[in-house]
Amino acid sequence: MKYLLKIKADMSHVKKMTPNGGVDSGNMPYFFKLRCEHCDELSKRQCVYMSGAVNYGRDVVNHVLKCKGCKETGAVTLISGYGRDLTVSGAYAPLMLFKCTNGLVPEGYEFNGGWTLTTDSNKVIMDVNLVSNSFYGNFDEYGNQPTIKNTRGKFTLYQEY
Ligand SMILES: [Zn+2]
Repeated sequence: MKYLLKIKADMSHVKKMTPNGGVDSGNMPYFFKLRCEHCDELSKRQCVYMSGAVNYGRDVVNHVLKCKGCKETGAVTLISGYGRDLTVSGAYAPLMLFKCTNGLVPEGYEFNGGWTLTTDSNKVIMDVNLVSNSFYGNFDEYGNQPTIKNTRGKFTLYQEY
């Protein structure tokens, strides 16, 4: 199954929010949990990179998890080309598509410390830490403070037509 991660944030004096290196950066760590559909066990927090490479049978995937409940093993692969920069405050934008096998379902996305903001005065701020779901930047020469609040992420089942 494929799941689309969408994110939103309340942005003030920020016109663009994107992972360091852009939406398809292979070095962006994604933190989330995986629920097993076979036994309903919820995993500990996982960290998955698109640049990660793990052998899974004859395939190479980004992440493999053996469920602690039922011992089934599933894989996660990040698929590029579906994300967009976040440019509208308070509205969800797609960030990344996750392919999950053998009943694994991603949930509980947590923001990391590697975000890049572009302010409305075109300053670029890198390595923005959104672990606490908010960020308060320095005031610019116009007296405006770039601010991010209430970051949210959600995984939705992705249907291909
Ligand atoms: Zn299980």
